Amino acid sequence: MTAPYSITPGRNKRPARFWPVLMSLVAVVALAGMWDRRVSGQTATAQALGPYAADFLLRAGGELDGAGDGAGARSLASGGPPITTASTCFAGWCGTLTVTQSVLLAAYNYQLSTHPKVFGQPGDSTPYYWYGPDAEGYYFYVFWWMTYPDGSNSWDCGMGVPGAGRYWAGFSSTAFITTCQNGVISLGGGGGPMAEIQNLWSQFRGMGDVNPSVPPTQDQANYWVRAENWANTVKPPLDAVIRAAVTSTELQALGIAGNPPIDQPPQARRVAIDAGHASDPVECRGTEGPTYHDREDVLVLEIAQQIAVDFAARGHTVVQTRPASCGTWTNPDTGKVEESPASLRSRVNAALAPPAAEIFLSIHHNGDSDRSVHGTEVRYDPRWGVASMESLRLARLTRDEQVALPLATHGSGATGEPGIKLANGLQQPNGDGGPFLVLSVATNDGQLPAVLDEVAYLTHSLGTTPFEEDLLHNLTFRRRAANAIENAIRRLFP
Ligand SMILES: [Zn+2]
Repeated sequence: MTAPYSITPGRNKRPARFWPVLMSLVAVVALAGMWDRRVSGQTATAQALGPYAADFLLRAGGELDGAGDGAGARSLASGGPPITTASTCFAGWCGTLTVTQSVLLAAYNYQLSTHPKVFGQPGDSTPYYWYGPDAEGYYFYVFWWMTYPDGSNSWDCGMGVPGAGRYWAGFSSTAFITTCQNGVISLGGGGGPMAEIQNLWSQFRGMGDVNPSVPPTQDQANYWVRAENWANTVKPPLDAVIRAAVTSTELQALGIAGNPPIDQPPQARRVAIDAGHASDPVECRGTEGPTYHDREDVLVLEIAQQIAVDFAARGHTVVQTRPASCGTWTNPDTGKVEESPASLRSRVNAALAPPAAEIFLSIHHNGDSDRSVHGTEVRYDPRWGVASMESLRLARLTRDEQVALPLATHGSGATGEPGIKLANGLQQPNGDGGPFLVLSVATNDGQLPAVLDEVAYLTHSLGTTPFEEDLLHNLTFRRRAANAIENAIRRLFP
């Protein structure tokens, strides 16, 4: 929640032509930074993407995991449409991923290829299983003839003669048990030197007539995904192949594409994130939730810090503008002790200190004794030309991302747009929406796109609908709120 202040708008100190000049300068600096990252090798983004994509797609409830039973993967395997994920940010990348059937084939290939093809040493009594047993009990095994299993001359359905001093390969299936001393009948096989065993291996057919020594088809992979246990058999190789991918090219080869292109180096940006309020003194702490007693100053700082961490991973810089301790004054309009205009100006000054930030976004949670109002609300100052137009664009993007959380929108006032409100005296006759100092200063003096984001109503406790205090109390929701703001900022930039 924010308090309005009466200020006299200053002169617009920078002419309109300053803005493109500034943007050109920023672009040059950003391009230089991008080049630095390229010559130093792979970007942090590319290095981290595969593991994060695997975590995201395969997490409990994730796009491929479904309800923990692989429903997403099975849908793909059954010919369902490609799966497009929710918008997300991870490892320095933001956007959506689209997953196709190809990833299932990659996982099945991996599953087959990781079965070891090993020849035991002469005298080694351990049989080596090159394939299976699969769901239908097919397997292919290789062992050193002389010692298997104990020198008996009546083993393996009478097909072998111990002591031949060569390898033996068996094709077996537990699905076709008739008689055999081990309860398994051999369907075929033969003995010989290694080359002969390799030849037998190339002829082996397992479940569904699959020849595991040649690359499987997509249909075979789909069958495998549908037939096998998700958690124990299908998910681990899926995780392995996605996790191993480093570049977008590698992810795309798996059938996972991103929008925007996954490892396109982000243009380095510098954004000011203003965590509203301050922990000290107590007058600066803002609103408090009535049930959990979460403080606005604490919650918004956490969101600001999450944005800083995520953006740093993308090569951006977040200027955090909250002062260590806020200066106070007695607001002559309300008689209350609040954060002073000088303290509020110091936040914008931090954003404008060279090299200046490109946007200013202040995070708050709302409060009202009227429990009939709720939802997300973003304010901007409409009076300062191009910077105000960009502010409105950022306000709309921020609102849209937060509506998708989902949150309702609160009000519209003079803008006529749900969830978008003005930050000057034009707003409403009851004083709601009076001048918001940080927006006036950032938009006018700094010519920055600037918005003040009231994410949700912290004062709306249990017993009201919706329980926005409950939402804000939830760590996952706060992370998603940070994500929503990140997405809005990302969408603002070309
Ligand atoms: Zn506030």
